[in-house]
Amino acid sequence: MSEQVKFIFSDDLLTYHFNPEHPFNQKRVLLTKELLDAVELIQAEDIIAPRKATEEELALFHSREYIDAVKRAGKDKLTKEQGMVFGLGTEDTPMFTDMHDASSYLVGGTLTAVDAVLSGEAIHALNLGGGLHHGFERQASGFCIYNDGAVAIKYIREKYNLKVLYVDTDAHHGDGVQWAFYDDPYVCTFSIHETGRYLFPGTGDVRERGIKAGHGYSFNLPIDAYTQDESFLQLYETAFKEIVDYFKPDVILTQNGADAHTFDPLTHLCTSMAVYEKIPLLAHELAHEYCSGKWIATGGGGYDIWRTVPRAWAQIWSVMKRGKVMNGDLPSSWLKKWEKESPVPLPTTWHDSKEAFPEIPRKLEIEEKNLKLLEAMLKYATLPKQNLQG
Ligand SMILES: [Zn+2]
Repeated sequence: MSEQVKFIFSDDLLTYHFNPEHPFNQKRVLLTKELLDAVELIQAEDIIAPRKATEEELALFHSREYIDAVKRAGKDKLTKEQGMVFGLGTEDTPMFTDMHDASSYLVGGTLTAVDAVLSGEAIHALNLGGGLHHGFERQASGFCIYNDGAVAIKYIREKYNLKVLYVDTDAHHGDGVQWAFYDDPYVCTFSIHETGRYLFPGTGDVRERGIKAGHGYSFNLPIDAYTQDESFLQLYETAFKEIVDYFKPDVILTQNGADAHTFDPLTHLCTSMAVYEKIPLLAHELAHEYCSGKWIATGGGGYDIWRTVPRAWAQIWSVMKRGKVMNGDLPSSWLKKWEKESPVPLPTTWHDSKEAFPEIPRKLEIEEKNLKLLEAMLKYATLPKQNLQG
C-alpha cells in the first residue's frame, strides 16, 4: 500500500456560496490551504482537483426530481413555491446561481478522495470542501444541498463493496447520513454533537440505534451545551474505539465540522484546539489499526472561519501527512497576509492557551451527564455481534 496522501483542492470548491451574509463560507478552505502552503506541508503532487459528480452519482442518494429542482434553482427557473417543496430558497439554504454545479464539485471532491484511497493510489485523502451532512434524499437542509458523505458511502458500497464506518464530530447531528443508512448493517454511523434540545437539527438522541437489519449500527452522543475538552475527548475516544472494534470496518469516513470550538458563533460547546488535534490523531490511529490505513476525511460546519477552522483543518492534513499535529507559532507570512481582512485578531499559535477558556460553573454536572450518555450508548455496542462476512 502506498503511503501517499491526497489533498483535494481547486477553486471549484470555493464556488459554493449562498450570499455575503450567510455563515457558511468556503473561504475557510482557502485559508486552510494557504496556512498549509505557508508551513510547506503541501506539495504540488499531493493535490488532486475535485471532479464534478455526475447526475448518476448524485442519484445514488438523491431523487431525480430533487436534482432537477436544484439545477433549475441555479438557473433562476424555480419559483419560491416550487423551491419550498425541496427546502430550496429558505433562509438556511437560499438559491444561488449555478448551485447545482457548485454542489456537484463538493460531492465530486469526496468521490475523488474515495477513489484515491480505494484504488490504492493513496492511503488517506482529505476533501475540506465536503461534509455536507444535513442534505436529504429530496430536500436541502441546514446549509447543505447535496450530501457528499451519503453519496460517497452509496458509491463505496456499490463500486467497492466495503463496510464503511462514518464518524461525525460536527457540533450538529449528522442526520442526513444517519437516516440514509439507518437500515443498513454494512454502514455504521457515529455522531457526537451538541444535544438537539436547543440546537439544529434536533435529532441524534442516544436511543436512535438504527432499524431492521441496521439496528445496532447507529450511534449518537448528544452531549450537553458548554461541554469542554476533557469530557468531549473522553466520550469521543472511548466511543470511537468501542465502535470500531465492534463494527470492524474496511474503511473510515470522517466528517470534521469545526464548530464545537468555544469561538464558534452557532453552537454552545466550549472546546479548544486540543479537541481538533485529538480528533484526527485518533481517526488516523484507528484507520491504521483496523482498515490498513484507509481513511477519507471531509470538512463540515465551522463558522469561526478566521481563528478556528484553518487551524483545525490544517491539523487533519498534518496528521495524514506526518502522523502528528503542528505545534508552536503560526507562520508569520499567513498572519501578515490575512490579519487586515480578519474582523477579529488572529491567534498566533497552533494550540490554544488554557487561560483563554474560563472554567464553566456547571462543569462537573455536565461531565457526569455526558458520562451517563456514554454508558447508555456503549450498551448498544455490546449487542451480539453479527457475522456480516457471509
Ligand atoms: Zn455543524
